[in-house]
Amino acid sequence: MTYLDHGATSFPKPPQVHRAVAQAMRQCANPGRGGYPAAMAAAEALFRCREGAQRLFRCPAEQVVLTENCTQGLNMAIRTLVHPGDPVVISGFEHNAVTRPLYALGAKCHVAGRRLFDHGDTLQAFETALKAGVRAAVFTHVSNVFGYVLPVSELAALCRQYGVPFIMDAAQSAGSVPIDFEALGADFIAMPGHKGLLGPQGTGLLLCGRLPRPLCYGGTGTDSLNREMPDYLPERAEPGTRNVPGAAGLAAGLEYLYRVGVQTVGKRERTQAKLCGEGLKKLGFRVFSGEHQSGVVSFLPDMDCQEAAERLAGRGIAVRAGLHCAPLAHETAGTLETGTVRVSFGYNASDAQTQTLLRAASQLR
Ligand code: PLP
Repeated sequence: MTYLDHGATSFPKPPQVHRAVAQAMRQCANPGRGGYPAAMAAAEALFRCREGAQRLFRCPAEQVVLTENCTQGLNMAIRTLVHPGDPVVISGFEHNAVTRPLYALGAKCHVAGRRLFDHGDTLQAFETALKAGVRAAVFTHVSNVFGYVLPVSELAALCRQYGVPFIMDAAQSAGSVPIDFEALGADFIAMPGHKGLLGPQGTGLLLCGRLPRPLCYGGTGTDSLNREMPDYLPERAEPGTRNVPGAAGLAAGLEYLYRVGVQTVGKRERTQAKLCGEGLKKLGFRVFSGEHQSGVVSFLPDMDCQEAAERLAGRGIAVRAGLHCAPLAHETAGTLETGTVRVSFGYNASDAQTQTLLRAASQLR
């Protein structure tokens, strides 16, 4: 199979990740629930994962909360910063993992930035909303549909300038675009462990610049007499037994990225996305491409997008068609009616993958 759906989850994971998961299954008991070797091995596995994140994102290890996915981290962050009815500024490219929790809170969402690949437009629209007064800002680093890389350093600086707390959704950037938690000064950065960070499904990270409001309450193995959740991290945000094999696998993924380099991986992905976009354009398809683009490229074939993806699947190519859980992004780009076919490259991006896709795409008539 030619797998070009890394925007959904990375696949296959590096062999080190498989080995780390299997080893944790063999060696680890419950972390923080005992001082015997198997419990200590589990605690160490979790710590290695936090340390890996610290090294990659410059976030203190104890401020790295282990979540089940990016969605859980976003929900926790949003419920910490946003109260029912609050005005909030979001980009025009947000995923349902951002918009649905906001709608559920009855937040008044000001959508800022409606032009693809246009940093000037994004920044100007955010500044207008921040000036007008909002309770919080939430923005994605990279659009999961179009690969638009938002100007997040500048957005973060604007939020700091106007004293507005912010959350960054790093679902499509973690592992392929450098992220510096300290320099951004973010209140929260949420990311999946299972996409660019190469960990198993069911893993994620929430980098915390402040104490989050817990989403869920329960035992932490510490401070047991306290009727409330501990007021320190990471325990406050990690009730119940953690996904130890998942964390061990994610630690191996983080280690892999540290060795190979996030810049190297990102460059490999962007190179193929560019070649792919150019090739698809030559075939006569409408391609969404621009200056600030990651390893994700969307296109419109001359047929129904789902049918095109099925035909590609029939030729052994995995891509995703439809709205990609991001109707707002499609509304912004004017593709709400049709959806798009999305090709998303990963850490193993290669010329061979692009050529295989283009050969198959040339038959989509
Ligand atoms: N945000 C964006 C931009 C995404 O692309 C995704 C998943 O595709 C998510 C959030 C949710 O991630 P997860 O499935 O890990 O919860």
